[in-house]
Amino acid sequence: MRFVPRPRPEGIGPRRIATSFESATGKRTIRELDARGQRVFLRVDFNVPLSDGKVVDDSRIRASIPTIKALLEDGASIVLASHLGRPDGKVVDGLRLRPAAERLAHHLKMMVPTTGDALGVGTDDAVNRLRPGELLLLENVRFHAGEEKNDPAFAARLASYGDVFVNDAFGTAHRAHASTVGVAGILPSYVGLLMESEVEALSNLLDKPARPFAAIVGGGKVSGKVAVLEALIKKVDLLILGGGVANTFLVASGRSVGKSLYEAKMVEHARRILKLAAERGVKVLLPVDGVVAKEVTRGTEFKVVSTEKLPASWHMVDLGPDSINAVRDALGPVKTILWNGPLGVFEIPAFGTATRELAKLAAEKAEAGATVVVGGGDSIAALQQLNLAGKMTHLSTGGGASLEFLEGRELPGLAVVPTSGSPYETLPIVWHEPEAEKKAKAPAKKSS
Ligand code: ADP
Ligand code: MG
Repeated sequence: MRFVPRPRPEGIGPRRIATSFESATGKRTIRELDARGQRVFLRVDFNVPLSDGKVVDDSRIRASIPTIKALLEDGASIVLASHLGRPDGKVVDGLRLRPAAERLAHHLKMMVPTTGDALGVGTDDAVNRLRPGELLLLENVRFHAGEEKNDPAFAARLASYGDVFVNDAFGTAHRAHASTVGVAGILPSYVGLLMESEVEALSNLLDKPARPFAAIVGGGKVSGKVAVLEALIKKVDLLILGGGVANTFLVASGRSVGKSLYEAKMVEHARRILKLAAERGVKVLLPVDGVVAKEVTRGTEFKVVSTEKLPASWHMVDLGPDSINAVRDALGPVKTILWNGPLGVFEIPAFGTATRELAKLAAEKAEAGATVVVGGGDSIAALQQLNLAGKMTHLSTGGGASLEFLEGRELPGLAVVPTSGSPYETLPIVWHEPEAEKKAKAPAKKSS
């Protein structure tokens, strides 16, 4: 692809001088960066759902705009990098980033050229022609096997595109890949505004939630959520379960769920979580009734039954009306809500009642002053279908990253960015000092 340079736009902002090192994440943010004239290698998370070559939900793209705008207005040029899907080191035409670039161009109201490859002579050339106020998007970095392997040579090639590195890819912060961690070991690194707001919202939730604090966990499977459920039990006052997750818990509490989706291997884990909850006095709400369907398809036969006697040859696909009322009652006094995972197979409208009702309830709670944080691509998609996404206190764009953060695990993409105010460029800081100087100073600590 030929990159056609455009004239430098008017209105490039004044030099930004760091006056304070305040940062919600404790990490160096772009507010400490004087970006004018710098070429910024900006890792974003444009891993968006596609259908027929179109972006179905561009939340992640919109979420990256504050950082992009701030850097452009400061007079930086930006080389954007992202992955999309799992091409496993090969070029997959259906996973090209052009549809994402189109959405970004639409929101920024400016051209967003994409390169045909993250590396190569054409890409080098396009990067070198970038002027302040301009940006381009590299092709899917996962077309190169070096990305997921955090290959130093691949990271070095990417790093050659920037003077500084900004990581705003919260959704990929739990992966130590070349464009998230490798580049940070080479260039002066900062976190972007999205990364900061995500970490801030999730930290607040864990550190100082207004109580009562309820977690609502749905979705298909328990397996990816065991660790977060265990961590949440130690934080919340109320745990509401729905979706396939609830089915596994129903089995753990001695019921049979017929043909419903549940994970036999997770039943023991579910039992342990229920025991933990009982020990800590955490109330757990399991569905008392459900919508069962002959098949998990559109237009199939379905009915409402009690979860005490779920029929053997049916699938439970949604909560029933009594369960929805129980959720409403339980949430009455709640001041903080964390919601991850739809309560039913909401993609089929007939099985989306509980998810839709919960979305409306969450919006009401947020309007009444409760803190409502929603995570998970499908949960956010459900909110968007109802035009309620904007009502929430915070939408977490990172699926796995949000969960790992809530589990209390360190996110490599965040850990590698230096502490706010730090003059050092990379972590961990390696101390090489002559013996004499070492004695004069306090003992060198390994930085966290
Ligand atoms: P999120 O993306 O919000 O984190 P998940 O990916 O964990 O949510 O789960 C979403 C999926 O769970 C949806 O595709 C939905 O159809 C499915 N699901 C929810 N309830 C059920 C159920 N009772 N049986 C089967 N699948 C379910
Ligand atoms: Mg999902």
